Amino acid sequence: MSSLDGPDEDDPRGKPPVPEDVQEAVRTLIRWAGDDPEREGLLDTPKRVARAWKEYCQGYTEDPASHLSRMFEEVGGYDEIVLLKDIPFQSHCEHHMAPIIGKAAIAYLPTDRVVGISKLARVLHAYARRLQIQERLTAEVAQCIWDELQPKGVAVVIEASHACMTARGVRTPGVNMVTSRVMGIFRRDDKSRQEVLKLMGY
Ligand SMILES: [Zn+2]
Repeated sequence: MSSLDGPDEDDPRGKPPVPEDVQEAVRTLIRWAGDDPEREGLLDTPKRVARAWKEYCQGYTEDPASHLSRMFEEVGGYDEIVLLKDIPFQSHCEHHMAPIIGKAAIAYLPTDRVVGISKLARVLHAYARRLQIQERLTAEVAQCIWDELQPKGVAVVIEASHACMTARGVRTPGVNMVTSRVMGIFRRDDKSRQEVLKLMGY
């Protein structure tokens, strides 16, 4: 037995075993879609699909806030916006379990502490690797940074395309959904909000 993505569960590399009921669920779905799960090309598919879903949903095993636990309090008098933009991410919509593919911009205005810039992306991924709706993903990322860093302001803008809309339903490729959540000074003060959105390219 060989397959393109390498040997399977009995193999010494030791991929995690997939319970029979999970495999059977995938076979049921294949049958429901109109194919035969016993045909050769589909024999290993249930295991692959199951493992892929564990990976897509890895965020359930992570505490997003833990990525922000290491802070730097020495900010050298820096009191301007910190922004990470064009962060690519993938998620899955909770209504169709279809891919959501997009990019995020995450900004905050520090009070007295900052984090390593890559940590903002880690927070995003920890929430994105779950079944999501884009609105909640946006709000959760903003809230997590707000709670952990206690900054003067947080702004998160997410732009994504939803396969449940581009590949099925109204089938409109090229359409992006944009969601934003602004907190603190970015919410209260028009000028600050405009500044951060402009830096983000909006
Ligand atoms: Zn959907």
